[in-house]
This record gives sequence, structure tokens and C-alpha cells, in this order.
Amino acid sequence: MSDQIKHDSIQTFSHGELVSVLTTQPIDRFLDYKAPKNGVKLGSYVEIPLGPRKVIGVVWGVGKGDYDKSKIRMISNVLEVSAMKPEMMEFLLRAGRYTLTPLNVMLKLATRAPGLANPPSMNIVYAKGNRTIDRMTPARERVLNALKDNSDMQFTAKELKEAANVSISVIKGLVSQGAISELETPRDIPYSKLDPYFPSKKLTSAQKIAGNTLRDYVRMGTYSTTLLRGVTGSGKTEVYLEAVSECLSLGKQALILIPEIALTVEFIDRLKKRFGEKPAQWHSGVTMTEKRRCWRMVGEDKAQVVVGARSSLYLPFKNLGLIVVDEEHDTSYKQEDGALYSARDMAVMRASIEMGAVILASATPSLETWANADGGKYNRIDLTERFGDAIMPEILTIDMRHQPMLKNSWISPQLKEEVDLRLERDEQSLLFLNRRGYAPITVCRKCGDQVGCEQCDARMVEHRFNGHLMCHQCGETKNIPNACPTCGEVDCLTAVGPGVERLAEEAQEKFPNAKISVLSSDMLISAQALKARIKGIASGEADIIIGTQLVAKGHNFPLLTLVGVIDSDLALMGGDLRAAERTFQLMRQVAGRAGRADKKGTAFLQTHQPEHSVIKAILNGDEEEFWRSEAKQRHLAGMPPFGRLAGIILKGPNINNVLSLANHMVRNTSMLDSINAKVYGPAPAPIARVRGNYRYRILVKASKDIMLQSALLKWRNSFKVPNDIQISIDIDPQSFY
Ligand code: ADP
Ligand code: ZN
Repeated sequence: MSDQIKHDSIQTFSHGELVSVLTTQPIDRFLDYKAPKNGVKLGSYVEIPLGPRKVIGVVWGVGKGDYDKSKIRMISNVLEVSAMKPEMMEFLLRAGRYTLTPLNVMLKLATRAPGLANPPSMNIVYAKGNRTIDRMTPARERVLNALKDNSDMQFTAKELKEAANVSISVIKGLVSQGAISELETPRDIPYSKLDPYFPSKKLTSAQKIAGNTLRDYVRMGTYSTTLLRGVTGSGKTEVYLEAVSECLSLGKQALILIPEIALTVEFIDRLKKRFGEKPAQWHSGVTMTEKRRCWRMVGEDKAQVVVGARSSLYLPFKNLGLIVVDEEHDTSYKQEDGALYSARDMAVMRASIEMGAVILASATPSLETWANADGGKYNRIDLTERFGDAIMPEILTIDMRHQPMLKNSWISPQLKEEVDLRLERDEQSLLFLNRRGYAPITVCRKCGDQVGCEQCDARMVEHRFNGHLMCHQCGETKNIPNACPTCGEVDCLTAVGPGVERLAEEAQEKFPNAKISVLSSDMLISAQALKARIKGIASGEADIIIGTQLVAKGHNFPLLTLVGVIDSDLALMGGDLRAAERTFQLMRQVAGRAGRADKKGTAFLQTHQPEHSVIKAILNGDEEEFWRSEAKQRHLAGMPPFGRLAGIILKGPNINNVLSLANHMVRNTSMLDSINAKVYGPAPAPIARVRGNYRYRILVKASKDIMLQSALLKWRNSFKVPNDIQISIDIDPQSFY
């Protein structure tokens, strides 16, 4: 698809003029249409006839006129939404070119507003009334809680019914009693004004200096990126909210990306405390009604702050002044499905086009960001002390080679002693294991076969709590079979290795009087219930918390003084380029949960390799030294961020076809040789079969200053790809799956 469109020359098209329209349809070119009666603008969202259908598109520029003019049809309808800004068009073009994503797919990302074609209208929504009811039932309570927890969101009857998991009659009953009220409102109402000067916490002097520097960057009104590095509990959030406040006082919009939607409820409350009202939200947990409202209001500058998941980067901000990427190192910022992009890198790209500021906040930044700051491309601000009296935890190892361990036991005697000590003192302990479910492997004692997923090569993971086996790759579940699927022997399947559920079982045995609470991201509970559980834990309802990586992210548990990492070696394995970096980040992050109030915290890492350089770096806490040495190694190897990588994934149902195309591709690399790129593979992807498709990977490595993308595209397009094989290209791959 040819792209570069001149934005400046022509802005409006009058009746009958030819315009070129980009649609979300998989057609690799722009289509010519005639402007309708009242004309259109560059960037207008329109409905156009395409064959027998009507589809949505955006007016992208002057028509090409290379098509029989008498056959060109007219735009059917100009949508009542703000036109796409030239900056947004530019962003979609550049992001698409960088990630090798077709422009129609980019447009899809940018138009994920439900009911885009429907004009503004009225809607019946529900709000909490002021009458209390005589007879409370669990169902009624759920409705009231859903409304209370999301007082900023609009719920239609259907959405409320789903959010509270009740029948319509429960809602009607509450209406007739006056406990909730039915309101007719416009579908798209502006968000409440946030107050940048709302009375807030008094900052420490270090926080103030950092906050003021960030304010300066925002006020400059040009592009800048700043790494805000601060140890856990140092008040990074408080500090970057200063930049948000500055942005608001300048009348510009801010976007805050957060990595875990399970944390949004807590986070939104925090923003309300800081700015007096709640911001807009955009993530998988908000209703369709709310998404529509958010998308439109953002475009009209009637939503000042959006808190969102990575896809909120494609919202049509009218006047974007700041993007914050919280926990910028988090792997969830990489979209691994469909359009493969890093939300962190795209945030930087978008801000550079919009002349906005970016803040990348983290206690343990990614090596990419660290190196960009080290090389002077990004600014850097450090917060080195925890807020208040809290001091950094001490980190020690437990050498598992010298701990007598019973079979099916993962808590070492030494760790047990430490937990007992905390129980005596009424303090909390966290046992961390980054494995969901009950057991990672279910094996037959007779034939030795492991129960695997029928669609994938992955093993099925037992979730005893929910009573089934689950494939963490494709989500397929099945009941735990009575007999071995391979040999048919009955009652012979046995769990091997621990997941958090099994660890909880062991903890209950070892600490029979302790209250134990499990926090894992796949627990089938709502965001509200999760919030309640976290609040409960923070106020002391649990003595021992058992958790996966979910707990590593941004919770404050003031009573927590001990962290035990059950298997520190887990993340060191796997041969991933980023294994060391990830382990380092995760361990430091988890250890950072301990001792956040006035009590000192200690973290113990159970490991079989206490002399491993990464474990040592975690212990001595010399983070700069760790990054410097990681950076040096990557530099020598020409690996990111000092070189470029691209992953090419071929997948298809026939293993021979996939492999032979992959082999053919790596033997014909003249287009890549000319830019001096190295080609590795093909290798079966670590999980070689997913949902019945076989997957092979080719890795391409090139030097940093080379336009790898265009060479890759030419190379890929030089092969004839059979219909049943899909090739995707992952620029800057993060995981090697
Ligand atoms: P980080 O994001 O660096 O982990 P937070 O911003 O979440 O740190 O702050 C950690 C805790 O300390 C939070 O409970 C926060 O409310 C509190 N805190 C930080 N700075 C201040 C301050 N200046 N005044 C009062 N409380 C603060
Ligand atoms: Zn599967």
C-alpha cells in the first residue's frame, strides 16, 4: 500500500471530489470514493459501500483517480465523531511500518470503539439511589457493589446484569424500591473535570525535586522521554502524578498505561484522591457503553486522563501532552498476538509525533530503557529512598543443596523457621512461586507419560481448586481423567512439581494455625473481589500470602516482613536472551514487597545456584553494576538493544510443509545478506505445536543502524507461501515462544 499523504495542502473535499479511503478490510490499497453532499474532511470517519456491504473507513487523502470514474461510488455517511488528526495518521503509518503491520490492521486498532457508526443518542443507565432497602440478598448486594465500585462508569441493564451476575428482575426490583435509579442520559457524556490543584500529599524534598523536573519536561511542550527509576515504595506514582497535574493545568490530556488490569480499581481510587474525580478507563474490564464513551470523549478533549491497557495507545486523543508507562519493564506491554508491538516503544513513537512527554517508571527498568538513558537518549531521574521510615529489605539465599527436603515438599526447614518467627510476631509472610495452578505436570506412574494438551505440545496443568486440567498455552480445559489417556491404567495419575495451589496445601500442613491467602492471576474472581481480598490482606486478614507474579506488581502490604522465593532458579533456565534480566527484575520486585512500613523486611531466595552471577547481583543490590555487565555482554554479542532482532514465525497444520518452507527461506537469504544480517534456524518454537498448528522460528540479527524492516519484507515477499501457512514477523521479540 502506498502511503505518504501530504496533510498540509488539502483539508476539505467538496461534493463529488475524489478522496482516497482507508478501511479496516484486508485489502492492500486505498479505495477511491466521491465526497458526499456536504463534503468531507481529511481524517473524517465515513461509511462506504463496498460490494453489497457498508464498511467503516477514514478519508486518507486525495483520490488517485486511476479507476473508472463512472464506477466510483459515493461515501454513504460521515460519522458524527471527531476526524482523525494528521498526527494520528502519521502514527499509524509509522507504527505499521516499524512493526510490519498492514495499515488496515493498524486502523482496526484505532477504531475499536463499539457502535462507531451509531450517532449520539440517549441511553438508559443505572445509578445508585439514595433509599436503603429492607431486605438485602447476595444478588442485590452484588448489584449495589458493582455500581458503588464503578461509580464513574455507565451501565445499561444488560451490562449491569452481567457485571453483577444477576437476572434482570433483581435490577427491576431494586429500581422499584428506589435503591437504584434508572436515568436517561446521552450515551456519550463528558468525564468529570479533574482538579490539578486538588489538595494532595506533601512530597518529600527528593520527591519534590523529581516532580518539578518532570513538570518542566511537560511544560516544555516538546517531545522528551524520561526514565523515572525509583526503588519500590519510593513514591514513583506520587511523583509522576505531578507530571499529570502539570499536564492538566496546561489543558492537555494524559494517558497512563498500567500493566495489570487487576490493579486498576485500586489505581483509579488513588487518582481520585489526587485529582478529586475519577479518570476515564480503557481496558478489557470496562463495559461496551463505557468504551464507546471513552473513545469519543477522548477525541473531543472531554476526557482529560485515561488509565488503560496497552491498546489505549490507539485512542484518538485530541491534545495529548503526556504518556506515562508504569512498570515499563513489564512483559505484558508486548502484544504477542495479531499485531506484534511493544506498547512502551509505541508510546515513545506516539509522543514524539504529538510533541508530548513520556515517563517510563520502574524500579527495575528494562535493559533497553536503561541503555537509552545511559546513552543520553532518554532523561533519567532516580528516587533512591523509600518513603517514610521504610528501609530496603535485606536479601539472602537459602542454599537448597544443603537443606534436607522431604518428597513433595518445597518449603525448606530454614524458610519454615523464618515463617514461624513471623507468625509469633504477628507479621505477614509471602511465599512466592511463579507458577499458577496445583501442579505443572501430571504424570502416569505406570507408563510415565505426561498428560498433554491435544492441540498443543504443552503439558496440561492441574488446577485442583477448579477441578480441572488446563493448557496455559491455548486455554483448553478438561476434567482430570480417572485413567491414564495413554495406557489406560486407572488411578495412576500423579501430580509432579508445585504450583501455588499445591504450595498452599503444604503451607497449611506446616503452619496449621496460620490464615493463608492465595493470590494468583487466574483465580476466577472479579476485579472487585480481588480488590477486596488485597485490602483484607493489607489489613492483616492473612498470616501467609501465597502468590504468583501478580503480587510482585505494586501492592502495599504494610505488615509484610518476610518474602520467601520458593524457586529462584525457575526463571534462570530457559535460555532466553532476557532470562537474567527478568529474574533480576522479578526477584528485586518481589523482595521489594517486604518491609514497606516501619518494620524491616527480609527476603530469602531458595536456590540451587547461590554462586550464579545473577543471584549474586540480586543479593548485593548493585543494580548499576548488574545493568552495566548485562549491557556489556549484549554489546559484545550484538544483541538488543545494541543490535536488532526479528523473529519470523511460520505456522501451519502440516509439519513437513512448514519445515520445508522454513528451510527454503533460510537457504535463500540474499536480500538479508546484502544488509549483513545473520539468519539463525529454523528451530521448532519452544512450544512447537499450539492449537494444532506446528510452529518454527527463524531469528534474524542485524546491526542497529540498518533498516531491517524493508529488507525483511522484501525477503518474505519473495517466497510463495502456501495458503495453510502463516508467517508473522516479530520485530524486537521479547519472548521466544
Ligand atoms: P512506588 O510507586 O515507588 O512503589 P508509591 O508511589 O506507590 O511508590 O508509594 C508507596 C507508598 O508510600 C504509597 O502508599 C504512597 O501513598 C506512600 N507515599 C509515597 N510518598 C508519599 C508522600 N509524600 N506522602 C504520603 N505518602 C506517600
Ligand atoms: Zn493447548
